[in-house]
Amino acid sequence: MKRDTFGSPAPRTAQGAAAPERAPLIELSGITRSFVNGEVVTQVLHGIDLAIYPGEFVAIVGASGSGKSTLMNILGCLDRPSSGTYLFMGEDVAGFDRDELARLRREAFGFVFQSYNLIGGATARENVEVPAVYSGMPPAERHARAEQLLAALGLAERTRNRPSQLSGGQQQRVSIARALMNGGRIILADEPTGALDSKSGEEVMKLLRQLSAEGHTIILITHEREVAEQAQRVIEIRDGRVLSDPGPQPPQGPEPDFTPHIDRSSPLSDVIEAGRTALRALRANLFRAILTLLGIVIGVASVIAMLAIGDGAKQKVIDQISAMGTNLLTVRPGAPNQRGRDTTATLVIEDVRAIAELPNVRASVPEQGASVTLRYGNTDQRTSANATSAEYVLARNWDVASGTFFSTADEARYATVAVLGQTTARALFADADPIGHYVLVNNIPFQVIGVMTPKGATPWGQDQDDIVFVPFTTGSLRLTGQRFLRNVTVAVEDVALIDDTQAEVSKLLLARHGVEDFQIRNMASVIATVTETQNTLTVLLGTVAAISLIVGGIGVMNIMLVSVTERTREIGIRMATGARMRNILQQFLIEALVVSAVGGLIGVAVGLGSAAIIASFDTPIQYSVMPVVLAFGCAFATGLIFGWLPARKAARLDPVVALASE
Ligand code: ADP
Ligand code: MG
Repeated sequence: MKRDTFGSPAPRTAQGAAAPERAPLIELSGITRSFVNGEVVTQVLHGIDLAIYPGEFVAIVGASGSGKSTLMNILGCLDRPSSGTYLFMGEDVAGFDRDELARLRREAFGFVFQSYNLIGGATARENVEVPAVYSGMPPAERHARAEQLLAALGLAERTRNRPSQLSGGQQQRVSIARALMNGGRIILADEPTGALDSKSGEEVMKLLRQLSAEGHTIILITHEREVAEQAQRVIEIRDGRVLSDPGPQPPQGPEPDFTPHIDRSSPLSDVIEAGRTALRALRANLFRAILTLLGIVIGVASVIAMLAIGDGAKQKVIDQISAMGTNLLTVRPGAPNQRGRDTTATLVIEDVRAIAELPNVRASVPEQGASVTLRYGNTDQRTSANATSAEYVLARNWDVASGTFFSTADEARYATVAVLGQTTARALFADADPIGHYVLVNNIPFQVIGVMTPKGATPWGQDQDDIVFVPFTTGSLRLTGQRFLRNVTVAVEDVALIDDTQAEVSKLLLARHGVEDFQIRNMASVIATVTETQNTLTVLLGTVAAISLIVGGIGVMNIMLVSVTERTREIGIRMATGARMRNILQQFLIEALVVSAVGGLIGVAVGLGSAAIIASFDTPIQYSVMPVVLAFGCAFATGLIFGWLPARKAARLDPVVALASE
C-alpha cells in the first residue's frame, strides 16, 4: 500500500535558481499516448515533458484535437500513458493498481468537465457527496459539507434539484462543488466554460481564480486564448507536443495542504452505501424492477407449490396403501414373467391351509372373486363378490360396522350368509338397516349378517366398499363354480420378518406345486414402486418449476446488463470521483441481490399461499422446509451469479472508456 504518498513527498532539493522552492507535484517526462483501433494506430501525444508545482494555476491551451483532453485524462489518472513516466509527488504511478489510482483521484483530484458529468438520477447534493461516499465520510458530516459547498457557490436553494432541473452554469457549479468535496487539492478542469454562455463562463472562471488564491492547484484546459490568459502559466500544445511553456511560476496562494487523507471507509460502510445507491437505482426504475421481481416470484412460488402438490399426492398414496396393511403378502397364481398359457388355475384351498401353518403367519386367507348382481326388493346392484374365509377381517384389519362377519362354522356348513360393503349396503337399503334381510345374489337368497366399515378408494381409484363378502365354501360352490383361487392374502405377525416369511411361503408353494406357478408381492414393495412413480411426478413438476426459476434468473441478468450499459457513464463518473472496483461491484451486485431476495421472499409467501388455497380444494398438500429453502436459495444464487457477471463487467470498465460512453 502507498498510503503515505501525500505525507512523504520524495525529498527533492531545488534544481538551480529557476526552480521554485517546492518539489514538483506532477512530473511528466516523455509521455506518449497512442490509440489502437484494429489496424489503425493513432498517436495523439508525442512525448510530453511537464512539471507542475503545488499551488500553480496552469492553463493548457491548444486547438481542438491537439490532445489536451488526452493529456488531462493521463494527468488525472483516468488513463495511462503508452510510454513515458508520470511521477506524482515523486512516486511513479505506473506501479499503481486500479484501486490505488482510484485513491489518488479520490484524495488529490477534482474533475470539472465541459459536459459537467453529473449523475442524472441523483440530486445536486447527492452528486456533490459522491467523492465523500467513497472516502468514507459519515453521512451527516457529508450532507452538511455538501450543503455548505453548494451554498458557497450560490446554490443553497438548489440542493434537492436534479441536474436536468438546473441551468448549465448551475450544473457546472455543482460539479465544482463535487471537485472540492474531498479537498480538491488539484482541480482538473477540461473546457469548463465550453458549454456555458459568456456570463456563466465568467463566473466559473472567477471561481477558479478564487480557488487558486485559496491555495488549490488548478490545471485548466481550454482552446480559448482569452480564457487561458487568466491563468498564471499558459502552456501551449499543438499536435500532441508542448509548443511553449514559460516554466513554473511562483504560487500566489498560501502553502497548499497536502497532509494525507484518512480513509474512513470500512467494508461495512461501503456495503451500506452501495446498498443505498442500489435501492435508489431500483426506485428510479421501479416498474422494470417489479417486472423482474415478478419473474423470480413466479419461479420460486411455482417450485414451492409444485413440490407441495407432488409431495402431497405421494403422501396420500402412501397413506392409502399403508391403510390397506403393510403386514400383508399377496400370493397370486401365474408364473412370474410368463404369458400366453393359462396360469390362473394353480392356487387351491389346501395351499392356504399349508401357509397358515408357517411361522410368523397370523392369517392365511383365500380369495375368489366374481361379478354378481344383487337384488333387494326392486333394486338391482351389480357388484363384486369376494368369497373368503372368516379370518379375512383379521388379515385385512377391517371390521364390521354392524352385525357380524361370517364364522368358520358358517364356512363349514356352506351357509348362505353375506356381509355387505358400505357402498353396496347403501345402494340396496339406503338408510335402512340391512341386517337380517335377505338379498338375492345371482338369484340365490343370502341373509345379510353384517355391514363393513367404510374403507374408501384404493390409490388406483377402485371403491373398496362396493363389494359383498360370502363364505369361501358357499361362494366357490354356488357363485364362482370353481375351486381355484384368485389370490391368497397372508397377514404376518412381525412386519420386520416379512421378507423371511415371503421366502418361506415361496419355498412351501414351490415344494407343493413342483414349479413356480405363483407370484408373491408384499405391500412394502408396492409402496416402493408407487413412491418411485410419485417421485417421478414430483421431479417432473419440480423441473418445470425450476425452469421458470431459471427464466427468472435470466430476467435478473438481463435487467442488470441493461442497468450497467445504461449507466456506463455514471460508472465512469463514480470512478473519476474515486470509486474503487469493489464499490462498483457491490453497487450492482446488491442491486441484483435485492431484486432476487425480495422476489424470493415474496415467492415463498405466494408459493405457500397458493399451496394453502389448493389444499382448501381438497387436493392433498405436503409442506416441507426443503423446497422453500431450495427455491429461495436458488433465487438468491441466481441473483448472485447473474448479477455478478454484469457487476464485474461494470467494475472492470476503464474510467476514460466509461466516461466517454453516451
Ligand atoms: P482535444 O481535447 O485537444 O480537442 P483530444 O485529446 O480529445 O483533443 O483528442 C486528440 C486526438 O486524439 C483527436 O484527433 C482524437 O480523434 C484522438 N483520439 C482521442 N481519443 C481517442 C481514442 N480513444 N481513439 C482514437 N483516437 C482518439
Ligand atoms: Mg478536449
